[in-house]
Amino acid sequence: MSAVAATPFSLKDFLKSFMLWELAKGMVLTGRYAFSRRVTIQFPEEKTPLSPRFRGLHALRRYENGEERCIACKLCEAVCPAMAITIESDVRDDGSRRTTRYDIDLTKCIFCGFCEESCPVDSIVETQIFEYHGEKRGDLYFTKDMLLAVGDRYEADIAAAKAADAKYR
Ligand code: SF4
Ligand code: SF4
Repeated sequence: MSAVAATPFSLKDFLKSFMLWELAKGMVLTGRYAFSRRVTIQFPEEKTPLSPRFRGLHALRRYENGEERCIACKLCEAVCPAMAITIESDVRDDGSRRTTRYDIDLTKCIFCGFCEESCPVDSIVETQIFEYHGEKRGDLYFTKDMLLAVGDRYEADIAAAKAADAKYR
């Protein structure tokens, strides 16, 4: 049976411990940062800049004349890896195809942005809105009317973000 070797006595370590050397080092470090430039921001009063490509809450957009952009091609539904989008469509009296149902279950969504990338008419987008929440599961199930309402409300911001990003595409 082997005995555990005792740690050799070190006078240097003993003195450091006795004089609270490590504590003093910590206090020096704290003191150095106490007077340097603050990098912490006071959210929610202060906010960090967001990229035009930020992927937040979804929205469905309209054209300037009020017509919804979505043509019910279902590309977004097909490409969504989380199967979060559900679309049903029909043909209107004027012969155009439109969705009769467009739902996104945000509890499934992984905010990959594939839906926005796949859309041929810039209809479904991810906005820069990230301050939203649900208190029960159904609160994060966004219907077509809810998505259109987000689009209507934030169209100016959405268009500005698209314009800022356009030269990099
Ligand atoms: S962001 Fe990605 S996961 Fe979310 S709805 Fe769009 S394609 Fe689906
Ligand atoms: S949002 Fe875009 S990709 Fe999705 S069904 Fe409508 S037109 Fe097609």
